[in-house]
Amino acid sequence: MSLKIGVSGVRGIINDSLTEEVISNFAKAYGTFVSASMGPGLEPGPILIGRDTRTSGKFVRGIVIDGLLATGHSVIDVGFAPTPTVLFLTKHLKSAGAIIITASHNPEQWNGLKFVRPDGTFLTKEEVFCLLDIYNNKKFKLSGKKGGVTEKKDASKAYLDAILKAVDVQAIKNARFKVVLDYCNGTGAVTTPYLLEKLGCEIAAINTSPDGKFAHNPEPTPKNLEQLCVFVRESKADIGFAQDPDADRLAVVSEKGIAIGEENTLALAVKHVLSKSEKLKAKSEKFKVVVNLSTSRMIDDICSEFGAQLFRSAVGETNVVDKMREVGAVIGGEGNGGVIYPAINFGRDSFIGMALLLEYMARSKKKVSDLVGSTKQYYIEKTKIDCPQDKINPVLEDVKKAFSNDKINTTDGVKIEWPDGWAHIRGSNTEPVIRIMAEALTKEQALEYIGRIKGEVTKVTNVT
Ligand code: MG
Repeated sequence: MSLKIGVSGVRGIINDSLTEEVISNFAKAYGTFVSASMGPGLEPGPILIGRDTRTSGKFVRGIVIDGLLATGHSVIDVGFAPTPTVLFLTKHLKSAGAIIITASHNPEQWNGLKFVRPDGTFLTKEEVFCLLDIYNNKKFKLSGKKGGVTEKKDASKAYLDAILKAVDVQAIKNARFKVVLDYCNGTGAVTTPYLLEKLGCEIAAINTSPDGKFAHNPEPTPKNLEQLCVFVRESKADIGFAQDPDADRLAVVSEKGIAIGEENTLALAVKHVLSKSEKLKAKSEKFKVVVNLSTSRMIDDICSEFGAQLFRSAVGETNVVDKMREVGAVIGGEGNGGVIYPAINFGRDSFIGMALLLEYMARSKKKVSDLVGSTKQYYIEKTKIDCPQDKINPVLEDVKKAFSNDKINTTDGVKIEWPDGWAHIRGSNTEPVIRIMAEALTKEQALEYIGRIKGEVTKVTNVT
C-alpha cells in the first residue's frame, strides 16, 4: 500500500508505508518550512501538536517531537485532540503552526500528519508544494538550539467555550435534549461531553474509550451507524450524533433512529445559520455560502429560499475554505458531514455542527425528522471505475465531448448539470480511479445518470 500524499497531508499504514523515516522527515521538513515562512532572524516559534486516539499515536508523537525539536522549534503538546480543536488552538495559543497526528476516518492501522498554518487553516496547495520540495530533497535546516516540550492537557476548554459563546446556550438548556453519541473510540470521547453538558443535554454514549480500537468502520456514513440508530430508538433520544475519529465530520441520527445522511448535516446547519442571520442583518446584504461541486442541490434550494448567494468550489476542504475567505461566506462546507463555520474555525468542525443543530431544534421547537422533511430531499449515488492515472484526463475530455449539449462545469473534473439532477466525474488524486457521483430526485434517476456516465467512460476508453 503506497503512501498517500495530498493537500490534506500525508497518510499511510503504520510501519508499512508510513515508516519512522517518513514521519521524521516530514516533521523536519515542516519545522524547516515554518522557520523559512517566519522570515530570517526570527526565533523559531512553538509548534502545536495534537493527535487522535489511534494506538500508534504515541509512537508517531515521539518521532514528530524529535523532528520538530531538531529544527529548533519548541513544541506544545495538547495530547488527544480533535482536528477542529487543534485548528482553533493554533490561533488561540499564537503558535507558529501545528501538526495533527491523525488518519481521519481511515481504519485503525493507518495514521498520518496534517499540517496547519498559524491562522488555524491547512497549508495551501502552494505551501504543500514547498513542503514537499523540502521533504523530497531533504532540504532540512537543523538547529543546534533545542526547544522544549510543554504538555497542555486542558487546552480544549478554550475552544469549547468559544463554541458556547457562538450559540444560544439558554435556549438549548431550556429544551433539555436527550442526546446519544457514538464516538467510535475516537477523540470525540475526550472532548464532546464537556460541550454537551454545558448545553444542558442529558447524554449517553457508545464506543467511549479513547483507545483507538474502532468499534466499526470509522467513516460516519449511514451504513456504519447501525449501532447508533438502535441506541437512539432504545433510549428514546432526541438526536444521535456520530463523529469520525478526529471529529471534523459529523453524522446525525433522527429521533426515529434513522441516519439522515451526511448531506443533511450540512443542509440543516446552513438553513439554521441563514435563518438566524437573516434576523440579525438587513436583507439587502446577501449572505454568501460556499460548498464543493459534489455537495447536494439541497444547498441551492436553501440558499434561494433565504436569498443567499451560493458559490461552489473544487472538492477538498482547502478549496472550500479558500473560496469562503474570498467571498466572505457566513457558512460553508462539504456534503460529507463537514460543517465550516468561520466564526469558530476555517475548517470542518463537528462541535460547532452539533451546537448549531441543537440550537436549531431548540429555537424551532421541531424534531430532527421534521427539520429534514422541511427541505426537498435528493438521492445521491456514487461509484468508481479503475483507470490508470495517465488515462484520467483523456477520459474526462471524452466525457466532456459526449455531453457537450448539456450544461458543463469544468472547475474540478467534469460536472454535468440537468434540470432535475447532476453528475460529477473526477479523477482521484491518490488512487488510479475515476469517481462518479450523481444526484437526482429519485434513486432510479440517480442510478440512470451513473449508468450513462459509466457507459461513456467505458465506451471511449475501453477501461472497465
Ligand atoms: Mg476526519
